[in-house]
Amino acid sequence: MELADLRAKIRDIKNFPTEGILFKDITTLLKDGPAFRFVIEHLAERYRHERVEIVVGIESRGFIFGGALAASLNAGFVPVRKLGKLPGKTIEVEYELEYGRDALAVHEDAIRSGQRVLAVDDLLATGGTMAATLRLIEQLGGRVIGVTFLIELAFLHGRDKLKGHPLHSLIVYD
Ligand code: AMP
Repeated sequence: MELADLRAKIRDIKNFPTEGILFKDITTLLKDGPAFRFVIEHLAERYRHERVEIVVGIESRGFIFGGALAASLNAGFVPVRKLGKLPGKTIEVEYELEYGRDALAVHEDAIRSGQRVLAVDDLLATGGTMAATLRLIEQLGGRVIGVTFLIELAFLHGRDKLKGHPLHSLIVYD
């Protein structure tokens, strides 16, 4: 398995969820055992010596990669979710979407001050979702030691919103 093989396993779906969006469907990669394992091992290798204590994954596809990565790194996993889903006391952050606003939440006791945190999502588009997540992590005192994605849509320049954090993506579309 190589990176080029992985690329071929991501399916493009036109006009989903709305007209004009080219959706990167990762379910075609996930159902392939060696491909899924390759992604997790590749990411885990990169962060193996970074003493990651907590992997934060963003609802919902960030949970799939984040959970597996956390287990591989012997780190804890913390979910960042849409409002109203987490049962305990939360802190919340609002962020801008292309049209309108959205909000994310995390349990207020999910991360201890000073813990080394790796933030994960499946795809970087405009960067708004991850930027909001980093605000939550930092509000809890977490130290963001890395931000990682399976896919980066580089033409949307999401990276610019995440300056100051080491960022890595496995597959980049220019
Ligand atoms: P953004 O905040 O613009 O970086 O959007 C990132 C979130 O939206 C991620 O959680 C992605 O899963 C999802 N997303 C945005 N654009 C796409 C796309 N073209 N294909 C698949 N997922 C996307």
